[in-house]
Amino acid sequence: MLALIPPVSSIGALAFHRSLPVPLLLRRAPPLARSLMAFSTDPAAVEEKVEAEDEALPTAVAGAGAGDWGDVSHEEWRRWGTSSPLPAAVAGVIHELLEMEAAAGEKMRFGGVGSKLKGNFKDVEDKKHRAVYERLADSDQKLQYFSARQIGCRLLGCRGYLCQKCWLPTEDCMCTNIVPCNLWKGMKFWLYMHPKDFLRQNNTGKLLWQVFGIQAAQLCLFGIQEHEDIMWDAFQSSGKGKISVLYPNKSTTPKSVKDLEFDGLSLTADLHESLQDEPFNFVLLDGTWSNSAALYRRLKERWTAIWGDEDIPCISLSTLSASVMHKLRPQPAWDRTCTAAAAAGLLWELNLRPELSAFEFEKQAEAVECSLDILLDALTARRVRLGRSITRKQRHNRNCI
Ligand SMILES: [Zn+2]
Repeated sequence: MLALIPPVSSIGALAFHRSLPVPLLLRRAPPLARSLMAFSTDPAAVEEKVEAEDEALPTAVAGAGAGDWGDVSHEEWRRWGTSSPLPAAVAGVIHELLEMEAAAGEKMRFGGVGSKLKGNFKDVEDKKHRAVYERLADSDQKLQYFSARQIGCRLLGCRGYLCQKCWLPTEDCMCTNIVPCNLWKGMKFWLYMHPKDFLRQNNTGKLLWQVFGIQAAQLCLFGIQEHEDIMWDAFQSSGKGKISVLYPNKSTTPKSVKDLEFDGLSLTADLHESLQDEPFNFVLLDGTWSNSAALYRRLKERWTAIWGDEDIPCISLSTLSASVMHKLRPQPAWDRTCTAAAAAGLLWELNLRPELSAFEFEKQAEAVECSLDILLDALTARRVRLGRSITRKQRHNRNCI
């Protein structure tokens, strides 16, 4: 069976995680078109494409007054997929926006990529936020402000428009189709998400907490202090031996799932025993190709600050698609580099380790793959209904992997 695994020299580089590129909605396209998807795409081109095709908020909804509900409460915040309190910086940004709206006597309108402010209000806010940014002393404060502002605008812009669980427009909500599944208690996913992926319809990281729950697959927003502190507190409780970032290790010896050491975890079939141990933390970088590098750098900085060494443990997926081997079905057309697919790949590879065989990783991997199919169906149905193209446009691909 192992002989079926194709050469994997470049697969490490594929373990980047980002939103689902829109062109991959061609999953159900005719055979000729499907074959075009076999090549890897240039990350920069994909990113441009995703940015360009990200759906604008309909003016009617955004124009109804994004700030009409007032400040975002802790409860409203948590319904988007996190158990943390509303971060102070995000609350501050939202409050300022609402105050500015009241002073201007004009409704805030959002639209376009990333819920950007529109209209006259945009210029006023733009000057103000640039002034705040300039006053901030160091790059870390600037980053935190950038993240809080991105997230604040998205929270206001998506209010009443997106389903808070699946982040799709409410008329396309897919929540009832998702089948929850228990993740092995001995592990935990951290979705370290770039703010530009937050509340994005084609983000796939959100699928993990839809399937496994917000404790087993926890959202950590990049540059949001409360979220990052929660994650690093968990890392320090578990210890540095129980952390792994799914990212190709560029500096030292590349590691794969088979190199992971689960020492200290009770690898018995008795799940209750392993409950006594801190789980093994798997960090998924959830952002576009270029943003993933910034996510990784920030992780590495804090790792070094805490533990004094620079060797942040990274793993790459070493099989092209374990599901190909297990199910003997055609390679799924969705991109293996999206976050949910990377998580499924990791689970499939854990499934190959004999000492973990009691933990039903196959079932967990399938649950993730299933949710990805459901998301693709929902996004495709939406595009078809709105008369948008689902045809891949051929283009030159620079630096193909
Ligand atoms: Zn929903």
